[in-house]
Amino acid sequence: MPFKDQTHTESAEEALKHIVDGFRHFHQEVFPEQQALFKKLATAQTPRAMFITCADSRISPELITNSSPGDLFVTRNVGNVVPPYGQMNGGVSTAIEYAVTALGIKHIIVCGHSDCGAMRAVLNPDSLEKMPTVKAWLRHAEVAKTVVHDNCSCGTEVETMGVLTEENVIAQLQHLRTHPSVASRLASGQLFIHGWVYNIETSEIKAYDASEDRFLPLDGAQVPSATPKGRF
Ligand code: ZN
Repeated sequence: MPFKDQTHTESAEEALKHIVDGFRHFHQEVFPEQQALFKKLATAQTPRAMFITCADSRISPELITNSSPGDLFVTRNVGNVVPPYGQMNGGVSTAIEYAVTALGIKHIIVCGHSDCGAMRAVLNPDSLEKMPTVKAWLRHAEVAKTVVHDNCSCGTEVETMGVLTEENVIAQLQHLRTHPSVASRLASGQLFIHGWVYNIETSEIKAYDASEDRFLPLDGAQVPSATPKGRF
């Protein structure tokens, strides 16, 4: 199964109550403690980076980067996909253009993750018969599947999933570079792009290093970068 059946242990009513109780806790306890931050954020944002990741509920961009509200400009979708420029004037393309042009974002991070249902669906397209919209969306990950099928002598599905997840991040970085606002700032060395894969089970992140053309652990003083060399 590409998208695993979820076994909900709580009723719909309990699920909503949990969320509303959580909001009340935030409003009454957390917000007063961080009032200075929220006052500063009330009229402006200056995020440190744009973070494009999967809609998967197990990924929490702020939590895994120890960030606060206002730090990350986050865009999420099934499979952390970035459609190539011109193919779809949707939410991702709009957010990229706004982040780069209006907010002057200096870093864009595309972050995939382990156990991704979207990647499993890319490997098993028949499972998407009843999800035509998901199927159409994941065409933007097709390139990664072909790269893996043609080049990887992956033995197991786990290994294939791992390589596909990395190749999908590389493919989406390539799509990112087709956006004029991105291409222009990459050419002038004003924008930096990053491809990460987050492991849910271990909390480790591997980052794509363009100079070595492989993923390296994000654990040293040197941060691997996917940014091509500027020309201007
Ligand atoms: Zn996912």
